[in-house]
Amino acid sequence: MQLTRKHVLTWLARLGDIMRENKAYLTDLDAAIGDADHGINMDRGFGKVQEKLAAFEDKDIGAILKDTGMVLLSSVGGASGPLYGTFFMKAGLAVAGKDTLDATETLTMLEAGVAGLVSRGRPVLQDKTMYDAWAPALDAFRAALGKGDDLALALDAAVDAAGEGMRATIPMQARKGRASYLGERSIGHQDPGATSTVFMLTALRDVVRG
Ligand code: ADP
Ligand code: MG
Ligand code: MG
Repeated sequence: MQLTRKHVLTWLARLGDIMRENKAYLTDLDAAIGDADHGINMDRGFGKVQEKLAAFEDKDIGAILKDTGMVLLSSVGGASGPLYGTFFMKAGLAVAGKDTLDATETLTMLEAGVAGLVSRGRPVLQDKTMYDAWAPALDAFRAALGKGDDLALALDAAVDAAGEGMRATIPMQARKGRASYLGERSIGHQDPGATSTVFMLTALRDVVRG
């Protein structure tokens, strides 16, 4: 089982739809602990990516992901634009020139993307950010490959772990981003960025599973 160019293009197309459908939900989550724009930001960014997909049609996976990152960087403000923009740029650079990725290369791609967003935002675990979904997802993906799982099973494990990580942000007090300004009042709310991260991984898994 491989991740193909076609999978990546379908993934990005679906993300445009998913962020549009969940615009109000993500914005409501951000209204509780931020400035009520995460859904607006994600919808704008992935909507722009959707508009570019025809121009991505003939590119390799690395170039598609890198260009996606550039579109996000140039169209989304706030914290999430640079963070997800850097994620896709670095993910693309890690798989430059490739038309398919096996499970190990898919992990390498995701790890490079997360390393990029970490270098940008400097989140650590329990800061109540998207990293609290990404980190356990990568751990679960790696562990699945370690016990011989294929790409689809590794993505299942990553999606489950990301969901747990997302729910685990609820009792956390935010230490990064706008939510940190709320101090203890950030406790009791699910992090919007961790939620959009779960949408991203779920969509990737669903595309690979067909
Ligand atoms: P903004 O907070 O600028 O309005 P968004 O609302 O689009 O941007 O995104 C907020 C999300 O960004 C948060 O829910 C959190 O997951 C993530 N975030 C904010 N700051 C950081 C950071 N320093 N590192 C990692 N993620 C962060
Ligand atoms: Mg916001
Ligand atoms: Mg904002």
